[in-house]
Amino acid sequence: MDAVTTNAEEITHLIANTKLPYELFDNLPVAIYTCDKDGYITSFNNAAVKLWGRTPETNKELWCGSWKIFKPNGQPLPLDTCPMARTLKEGIAIEGEEIIIQRPDGALINVLPYPIPIFDANGTITGAVNTLIDITEQRNSERKQAMLASIITTSEDAIISKTLDGIVTSWNYGAEQLFGYTESEAIGRSITMLIPQDRLMEETEILSKIRKGEKVEHYKTLRMTKNGVEIPVSLAISPMVDTKGNIIGASKIARNVSKQQLAEQTLQQYAENLEILNTVGKVISEKLDVQEILQNVTDATTMLSGAAFGAFFYNKLDEEGESYMLYTLSGAPREAFEKFGMPRNTDVFAHTFNGLGIVRVDDITKDPRYGHNHPHYGMPKGHLPVVSYLAVPVVSKSGAVIGGLFLGHPEPGRFTKEHEILISGVTSQASVALDNAKLYEEIQVLNSKKDEFIGLASHELKTPMTSLNGYLQIIDRSLPADDKNKLFIQKALSQINKLSGLISDLLDVSKIEAGKLPFTYAAFNLPQLIEEVVDLMQYSTKSHRIIICSDISDLLVNADRQRLEQVIINLISNAIKYSPQADHVNISVSRQNDKAVVAVQDFGIGIKKEQHDRIFSRFYRVDDVASHISGLGIGLYISNEIITRHQGKFSVDSETGKGSTFKFEIPLE
Ligand code: ADP
Repeated sequence: MDAVTTNAEEITHLIANTKLPYELFDNLPVAIYTCDKDGYITSFNNAAVKLWGRTPETNKELWCGSWKIFKPNGQPLPLDTCPMARTLKEGIAIEGEEIIIQRPDGALINVLPYPIPIFDANGTITGAVNTLIDITEQRNSERKQAMLASIITTSEDAIISKTLDGIVTSWNYGAEQLFGYTESEAIGRSITMLIPQDRLMEETEILSKIRKGEKVEHYKTLRMTKNGVEIPVSLAISPMVDTKGNIIGASKIARNVSKQQLAEQTLQQYAENLEILNTVGKVISEKLDVQEILQNVTDATTMLSGAAFGAFFYNKLDEEGESYMLYTLSGAPREAFEKFGMPRNTDVFAHTFNGLGIVRVDDITKDPRYGHNHPHYGMPKGHLPVVSYLAVPVVSKSGAVIGGLFLGHPEPGRFTKEHEILISGVTSQASVALDNAKLYEEIQVLNSKKDEFIGLASHELKTPMTSLNGYLQIIDRSLPADDKNKLFIQKALSQINKLSGLISDLLDVSKIEAGKLPFTYAAFNLPQLIEEVVDLMQYSTKSHRIIICSDISDLLVNADRQRLEQVIINLISNAIKYSPQADHVNISVSRQNDKAVVAVQDFGIGIKKEQHDRIFSRFYRVDDVASHISGLGIGLYISNEIITRHQGKFSVDSETGKGSTFKFEIPLE
């Protein structure tokens, strides 16, 4: 029996057998009341009022008052079996049988009652005195303790306590599970048994923090199990204090974070893969060169799958329509493949080249499809050591198999379902890119055929045109000055001139495309050239005045005179052509640092900003405004090429409805 109950008994006996002074009784720290033989309360002290939560009326209320009474397990306790009822009935003292009473405010109080009967001189029972010891707090803290103990026992985390010297003092089930030591094996041993050799310093640091009363939280580190396996853990360590507040040790919670780490790594891997997929997708969709696409895809998929080597075989048709195989490699030099030739139609490869689906095998050398074909019956000697094998057919939109991607690793079981999904994601992007590249190649072929035709046609047209020009000039000269047909011959000659201008422009275009536009450089005076061109053009232009707005007369450039003339003529004729409502065109030449700058300004229809770059492309014409004005859309293309070849550049400043200024600059001599 504990100290409290012993005191209670003594006090009860005192009250029962002696007459206590009223004040002392009233102010005793334990609840005491008396009742007569019928159970009516005759007296009680302040502590009883506090415990009951109300003041009963003496001689009117029974000892059981209006309280509900329960057994310690919470079940209702019949009143006649209550300790006090039994004392009154049987005349016996009862010691500390715990009951729970419910106060009027609903609060439950755990009580140890000590009812003692009171007898008169004849030994007849006259009543009883009862001492009630309130043990609610004690019970609550016991409950809390039990709950904590159960949490600690059932926790999946390892919960350990240790002294300030690092000696284990408690070890829960979670710790047993995590570290493999039983409670009895662990208690009394140093916590350093869990710390890998190269991390022993951590314990010194942790303990020094604990001694200072500091906590250590979310400390990610490695700890060692009984079997010597290192596991990643997250530690939370707090100082433990005694009732006086002295630090006496540390409590430590260790959580196994392997799963979390694995999940984080997987997530990170996914994020990285997604990024690679995105980048690969972007890179290959921008490429139009088959070899480059294949290389990018091979590199990316080899990396994504963790393959040791990867190869992409691609069926391509040459100009004669013959099929041949292009291939790219990653992780292995070309020599590693060259001596074996292209993959043959063996059972292993056929599946892929026939587009029958993905083949993923943990060990290809054990696959039933492997090793049946003459002459090698498996991999040729000296072949890369492929064990893990992943092959994905690459199928175009039309359903035709255009190639296969093959990944290998010298160890078995290296490729997973995830790799399969990832790689087939890349190959489907690749097949779109390869389709596009094929289309582009076809367009390129058609384009060069078109260029070839333009070159040939304009060349063929030039000869009859020159003869026609010659004959017309002979007729012109042979006619007397007043002949009325002379005017028609002049008109025909001017049309022939226009036509041969167009033909030579077309010829220039095909020469530019073939990279064969010839240039002859010589030093000459640019302002003088401009004057000559303006004079010549003004002669045949009635609608506009061509005004030279600069007074510079000497500016030497080293350039192809004829080609620059061609550019200036083109700019002035455009300025006239595209300003039908205006009456003049300005041209200026100036020097800016070591450059000569020529600007041609008109006050015509102008060009929208978004068209500024496009008008320099081949055959490009601004359709909405310029459609009624004749032209082929090649003048600026040729001019731009000429200026670029002179290490110069073009610029346009234009506003629709107000006019345009075309400028070019070329280096001075
Ligand atoms: P073309 O004049 O034969 O069509 P160019 O290559 O010389 O070919 O010019 C390309 C296009 O640029 C023209 O079709 C026209 O739409 C536009 N352009 C060129 N010069 C001017 C200008 N001075 N003002 C307005 N538009 C112009």
